[in-house]
Amino acid sequence: MGLTYANMPLDRCSNQRKNKRWLTSEFNHQDTLFCVINDGMSLFSHDNNFTPIYLSKAQLDSLSINSCIYLGKGAESVESTSVRSMFTVNFEKLRFSSQEQLLKLGQWKNLREATPNLTVLDASIQALAKALDYWHSTHQYCGKCGNVSSSVEAGHARRCTECRNMSFPRTDPAVIMLVEHMFPDGIARCLLGRQATWKAGMYSTLAGFVDPGETLEEAVIREVSEETAVVVENPQYITSQPWPFPASVMLGFTAVATSTIIDISQDDIDDCQWFSREQLADFYAETKTNNDETTQYRIGSGDSISSYLITAWKNKEIGQY
Ligand SMILES: [Zn+2]
Repeated sequence: MGLTYANMPLDRCSNQRKNKRWLTSEFNHQDTLFCVINDGMSLFSHDNNFTPIYLSKAQLDSLSINSCIYLGKGAESVESTSVRSMFTVNFEKLRFSSQEQLLKLGQWKNLREATPNLTVLDASIQALAKALDYWHSTHQYCGKCGNVSSSVEAGHARRCTECRNMSFPRTDPAVIMLVEHMFPDGIARCLLGRQATWKAGMYSTLAGFVDPGETLEEAVIREVSEETAVVVENPQYITSQPWPFPASVMLGFTAVATSTIIDISQDDIDDCQWFSREQLADFYAETKTNNDETTQYRIGSGDSISSYLITAWKNKEIGQY
């Protein structure tokens, strides 16, 4: 099934959603479902199963099509979405009566908290809704003239009410890389770092945003050098993952180090080390239930591409060594 958040079951209907007649008919259809986002959080059932709550239009009092964002239409094979269309709407856009109703139906949770309980399909739908909602909430004004912009094209663009400048949902590319090296003792090791704010013992692959005018491969080489002073070559693309926390796509790479001395003094990471496969076998993945503060080494939660890259390298599925 691939990575978490990367299993979109919905057809985005990119061409149809610009057709107002078609969009209105989908909006008014009795089977259409609405996903509500409140301050970046999604609505889940009150119990600990965190079942995502999708609502019908009838459950949302006086909903306006202009305040909704079209997500897509479910493929017939996907049971949870049938062939119905799905929209997302921001909680603030709802009438008070609907808001009160929603609070009785469920609880607001950060997506990553609920993810371990979600199907891969629901996780992908929620990620899309969260990403689009975030973009709208942070792009209310025209970047060119500063006047108010309004949502157009079913929520997939915004147009300035004054100068007509169009803007589109942005996704910030970030590279994330599993750096490996074959040491003189014949043992291959990978380079993992941690930030001071993370739970004790947690390590992750290095990552960073792509600069303007830079290739992804250049970003891999630069980021590793900036963070650790380790020199790498031959970045190889592996896979990608939508990461709406808040607005990225993570581009996973492997790279081979040509130097091994680590210097973190020029960056803000807390620690960085080389780890062999044997050492990685003692790592365990962080889960919601595992909150002890012991210094057992661990990798981040299973929903991230970082844990995917580390596990795949440990199992010799990726990398040169
Ligand atoms: Zn403008």
